[in-house]
Amino acid sequence: MSAARLPVPAARWAAIRLFAMDVDGVLTDGTVLISSDGTEAKSFSILDGMGLRRLDQAGIATAWISGRPSLATTARATELKIPHLIQGRVDKLVALRELADRLGLSAAQCAYMGDDVIDTPAIAWAGVGIAPPEAMPCALAAAACITVRPAGRGAVREVCEHLLAARVAPSQP
Ligand SMILES: [Mg+2]
Repeated sequence: MSAARLPVPAARWAAIRLFAMDVDGVLTDGTVLISSDGTEAKSFSILDGMGLRRLDQAGIATAWISGRPSLATTARATELKIPHLIQGRVDKLVALRELADRLGLSAAQCAYMGDDVIDTPAIAWAGVGIAPPEAMPCALAAAACITVRPAGRGAVREVCEHLLAARVAPSQP
């Protein structure tokens, strides 16, 4: 699997200790199904879920930072044992930096993936900023990596595989 443009050097992937991401339009295709009783449903990728579990096993922390509180998001994050679930924050960069500070991590040790205007500062700040191919132009412009796979259908897994490959690759002298 390769990024659609501007391949990120393995050393930058290898430095990442936290992979934080937006939820809607990254882990999903951005669709929210609302029933007449107000309950909502979202579609998450099993491929992405497996990738996030594998990152956990490799010692890379994960965070979901969503502007929109959702019980469907909470349920999926609980199922996947996502260690850092932050909802109701539209100031994504502030939320990301607060988490990075709490974990003692620099920008170069953080990856962030998002798809919209409110994600763009966090994409630009992170050591590796990522966007799915359907992201808004500002997010695409800020990203060092644009995934080949679409949001909600393996885009996050693609990033997980880059991170895992860099962890096992021999380090450059
Ligand atoms: Mg989004």
